Amino acid sequence: MKHSLARARVEIDLGALQRNGASLARRAGVPLLPMIKADAYGLGAAAALRALDVLEPWGYGVATVAEGEELRHLGVTRPVVVFTPLLDQELTRVRSARLTPTLGFPAEIEAWRSAGGGAWHLSIDTGMSRAGIPWRQVSEIRHLTELLPPEGAFTHFHSAELDDGTLEAQERLFREAVASLPSRPRLLHAANSAAIARQGRSDWDLVRPGIFLYGVGSGSSAAIQPEPVVNLRAPIVEIRDLQAGDTVSYDATLRVERAARIATLAIGYADGYPRSLSERGSVLVGGTLAPIAGTVTMDMTMIDVTTVRCEVGDVATLIGRAGDTVLTVERVADDAGMSPYELITGLRSRVERTYTGARS
Ligand SMILES: *Cc1c(COP(=O)(O)O)cnc(C)c1O
Repeated sequence: MKHSLARARVEIDLGALQRNGASLARRAGVPLLPMIKADAYGLGAAAALRALDVLEPWGYGVATVAEGEELRHLGVTRPVVVFTPLLDQELTRVRSARLTPTLGFPAEIEAWRSAGGGAWHLSIDTGMSRAGIPWRQVSEIRHLTELLPPEGAFTHFHSAELDDGTLEAQERLFREAVASLPSRPRLLHAANSAAIARQGRSDWDLVRPGIFLYGVGSGSSAAIQPEPVVNLRAPIVEIRDLQAGDTVSYDATLRVERAARIATLAIGYADGYPRSLSERGSVLVGGTLAPIAGTVTMDMTMIDVTTVRCEVGDVATLIGRAGDTVLTVERVADDAGMSPYELITGLRSRVERTYTGARS
């Protein structure tokens, strides 16, 4: 690994991403609707497509019209569902890119009908209070769903990683709401990654995994575990010896009490390495954990390598696998006081992305 890296880089294991998708599909027993919103959780939608398309998913899920248009530019012909409510002025673009909107409130369904209509999925709110029609109001839109029947209907769980009964309760509300429609939409879906892990074989027609594909599971007791996908690395670009009383980084939050050796990594918060890891996180150098020293700065991060053998040019692993040791996304996110979703979607475009193989 020596001298192979000039700056921070995220290495994405597309083979692992693909195997994670296959493992979800096996467990759920129904076609996937993989969520590749936010540029595949920050890892690159084009590459994620290469890995996932061989699994023959039913379609793909995105959050914005622009993300959907990008998939079309990349040659995706499968359905692309946009999972955020849209304003009327976006509907023309939705139609011309042949995207599938998710609608809930009567005004949204009317607007889609007057824009010319087309396939849409009914978004039913069973507890998120974020998007979609509240489950108890679904019977009020019967007439609209008769005029323009939805291809699908779905809900979203708020606590799928918890074993607290809420997932089952939300599913009961979803079932009840769907039963109040004049006819059953062809494609019903509810499960995100954690729900697939929890429930096994799906009662519905599609599942919508996201984070698991990208290497983050829902706890060590979950029935299926993903393979790690993200490896964030940065080179050591300088090393210095400090004497007792010397200070490190902004605000001099670290003043060493005895002689120490400090290495500088070419990565900072402008690369998406969270500043909240200041004095809290660790990185792997060789197989050894080295603590972050002082405040993470915009472009550089210092680590304490007093007891770690290393030299300039060595590559540190900030997330992922180094030899036999893995610094998981969950562990780093926990140190940073963030969710794993926030951590991986926050890796910025300045970080070079490289990909290793997937079966095609
Ligand atoms: C992001 C998202 C998912 C995927 O959730 P994960 O927890 O990442 O598996 C599923 N459904 C909807 C509506 C989403 O917005």
